[in-house]
Amino acid sequence: MNIETARLNDGVDIPVYGFGTYQIPADGSAYRAVREALDLGIRHIDTAVAYFNEQEVGRAVRESGIPREEIFVTSKLWLQDYGREAARKGIETSLRKLGLDYVDLYLIHQPYGDVPGAWQAMEEAKADGKIRSIGVSNMTPAIWSAFVPQFDTMPSVNQVEFNPYFQQRELRAIMAKENVRLESWGPLAQGNKDLFSEPAIQRIAEAHGKNAAQVILRFECQEGAIIFPKSTNPERIKSNMDIFDFALTDEEMDAMRALDKGKGSHDPDAPGVAEFLISAFDVHAND
Ligand code: NAD
Repeated sequence: MNIETARLNDGVDIPVYGFGTYQIPADGSAYRAVREALDLGIRHIDTAVAYFNEQEVGRAVRESGIPREEIFVTSKLWLQDYGREAARKGIETSLRKLGLDYVDLYLIHQPYGDVPGAWQAMEEAKADGKIRSIGVSNMTPAIWSAFVPQFDTMPSVNQVEFNPYFQQRELRAIMAKENVRLESWGPLAQGNKDLFSEPAIQRIAEAHGKNAAQVILRFECQEGAIIFPKSTNPERIKSNMDIFDFALTDEEMDAMRALDKGKGSHDPDAPGVAEFLISAFDVHAND
């Protein structure tokens, strides 16, 4: 199956559908899940230093038998590695763990601390051919306007919570001006059953002979988001990607848009978030 690509503002092409690996442990599960996704034709894998599974993700990519240039790999720098020097080392460590010469996309995972310093290191790694495209994550409109004007290079993407319950209208308007793509995390609202049983979604699913997850993911693609839902269940990995043979009508798109609550499960602007995250995920705990 050939999944279409989108051209980012730096000219890099990214498959619009990928596979997320958050909370898939490095006990063989991450390796198996990524191999499964690649075997099914997915060519875009999203990992992060803070997922502690880069080694297995990289090994699955390397052992898949698929030419490296056909797989789009994303990883993300974590908070302990911000500032220019720390970020330089963090990027090297990440590449070493992945066992790859370059990553396709690298993100500033959380927008706190010395983000401009970390961004400079990302720009340098891009110039050195170690990263093809650089982006950010979890930037709200307020955080975006605090940091992005300090950058020389415009981010190619902002990876944020996005699903029918949280459609990020204000942020999308800001990003659209710079041709920055939205990558959706939590495209299935992390399995929120309320969302799956929304009458509008059930109705649309029935009309197309699809399930609720497929309708949600299809909606997001039609809205222009890049998505990479997570599952470790091979049946679900397969069915989640089966969304390229139907399209929601304008009326159905409006019904999906009407589900927006304007609020997600995570508020990056809330006080104490940075402190919480840095203590919850210590990526150097085992150094
Ligand atoms: P998701 O919305 O993809 O939901 C995953 C959960 O949905 C699974 O655990 C499973 O329980 C359920 N699910 C999957 N397929 C289903 C189906 N067909 N029917 C019913 N339930 C189903 O949530 P996510 O994993 O948090 O987000 C996707 C990816 O985004 C992550 O794996 C990760 O790569 C990335 N992410 C990034 C950030 C960030 O801060 N940048 C945060 C969270 C996630």
